[in-house]
Amino acid sequence: MDKIISVLEFIEDEPKTWAQIRRFCKSIDFDPDHAHDVLTDPNDPLVIERDSGVRPNTKGHQMVADFRAGKSSGNSIRIDKSTGVVGVIGNNNTINQNINTQQPVHVEPYTDVDLGLIAIGRWIMRKLFGDLSHNMRGYTAVTSVLTIAAGTPFAYPFITQEILPISVDFVAAIFLVAVLYLGWGIVFMAHHTTCPQCHQKFMFTRKKSVLVGERETRDKIIENYENDYRCDNCNYEKKKVKETVTTLKSDDD
Ligand SMILES: [Zn+2]
Repeated sequence: MDKIISVLEFIEDEPKTWAQIRRFCKSIDFDPDHAHDVLTDPNDPLVIERDSGVRPNTKGHQMVADFRAGKSSGNSIRIDKSTGVVGVIGNNNTINQNINTQQPVHVEPYTDVDLGLIAIGRWIMRKLFGDLSHNMRGYTAVTSVLTIAAGTPFAYPFITQEILPISVDFVAAIFLVAVLYLGWGIVFMAHHTTCPQCHQKFMFTRKKSVLVGERETRDKIIENYENDYRCDNCNYEKKKVKETVTTLKSDDD
């Protein structure tokens, strides 16, 4: 059980691929197949799989939190709320009845990619405009033009029936990724981090993020968050802003 907690801690802050998780399991002398079975148990899953990788679901987060709080010694009776089946693990009769798994869980407010966008956004704004409250209309227009330019090599074979050399495709793909990340990624982040009071961009950022609920349907995962925001420039604050994140599940699971 401790090893499952270790795996959950490993994927807690940043989603990981199964290959990374398997390597981690081997490094702690834990059977990767067994870990996979426990984490993805259809009746009682502990993780969510997304395109960006695998990370704990609400229950997985809660197990880590409980473990840290010392509530769970690792030996417990688990009561499966959906089937009523009691599974006894270990020989210590502590009852750790996770009937309500919808407890608030603190999560990282931003991914590393988001933090990168915020840092680069501030830098670009200062370099281009000298201040963070400048509008981004010009930036968005240039991004639009570059997006068309970046997409053209991919449309080219359909228009002319000629195949471009692989090297051209490769460079075009890198160019397109750069435009999407540094163009639209920055535009999107600017929009979401503009302070309502001082109107500076990349400043009104989440300081605390709490996952307050999670629901899973056949094709989507819906997560409800309560986020605290504060402006790094003028200290304007908004607390417990309710936000919902819907993620489509990939077809292959
Ligand atoms: Zn502000």
